[in-house]
Amino acid sequence: ATPTALMVGTGRGAQLGILIKGPEVLESTRRVDAVVLDKTGTVTTGRMTLLAVTPAAGVAEEDVLRLAGALEHASEHPVARAVADGALDRLGSLPAPEDFANVPGLGVRGVVGGHAVLVGRERLLDARAVALPQELRRAKERAEASGRTAVAVAWDGAARAVLEVADAVKETSPEAIQRLRALGLTPILLTGDNETVAHAVAREVGIAPEHVVAEVLPQDKAEVVKRLQAEGRSVAMVGDGVNDAAALAQADLGLAMGTGTDAAIEAGDLTLVRGDLRAAADAIRLARRTLGTIR
Ligand code: ADP
Ligand code: MG
Repeated sequence: ATPTALMVGTGRGAQLGILIKGPEVLESTRRVDAVVLDKTGTVTTGRMTLLAVTPAAGVAEEDVLRLAGALEHASEHPVARAVADGALDRLGSLPAPEDFANVPGLGVRGVVGGHAVLVGRERLLDARAVALPQELRRAKERAEASGRTAVAVAWDGAARAVLEVADAVKETSPEAIQRLRALGLTPILLTGDNETVAHAVAREVGIAPEHVVAEVLPQDKAEVVKRLQAEGRSVAMVGDGVNDAAALAQADLGLAMGTGTDAAIEAGDLTLVRGDLRAAADAIRLARRTLGTIR
């Protein structure tokens, strides 16, 4: 590829809302044949809303919102924002947690008003030998069957509630995935969220069920990319979160959502400025065309 052609490709990228780190990036883009898509914030808007609260028997909804909301207020995760905003809407204010820690891919834990609180996936509770009672398990299963993410709330060693949050598929995602497929790429959905929710989203955007990889911990996302590469695939990865940074770096081509975190943008080779997944297809087509015309 001549430097001039590559510069032209880079300039055209900017017009399409694609920032390219260096002209050499176009070269790796050309060979890509699989595209791994993070779910939350990439295929979906990432703007989640708190839709329902199911407290266990004898637990006040207000206590659930205050303790879970206070803890989640300290996290930047899309699920956390939904919980904190929902709690703030209803309570007006939230106490500050006395202690707080993120547990990547699982949730948050900390101390609020003297109570040791956990908010997150069932696995977060499992790890501390806190079981979901039957009534909460049913609420969780009902939520997930309708494509919502269920979040468990526990304090002082007992499960107290299940919260339901959901976000929407971006309007442009189904078209984007169709375009990627038309370029001969296999789209793969990768998420830390549960299987049921992941499959509901995949169905909505046109990703085959056998190409859904769910319940993947943040530190294992890069492993999924590596495994595909070991199978001989040349892999593009599209992501937005801190959680996606290692996978973006591991991929043959890392595409970061411009609407995402700095960590993702730094790890990527390309930035899709507007956070529109269709630009991923534009980028790949542009690279093929730029390099194709000069070979
Ligand atoms: P994704 O891969 O879709 O971007 P993450 O790996 O960030 O998702 O999170 C995976 C799952 O872990 C979420 O769907 C949620 O169930 C749970 N989770 C993560 N962080 C939190 C949090 N702060 N509060 C509650 N649940 C959380
Ligand atoms: Mg994400």
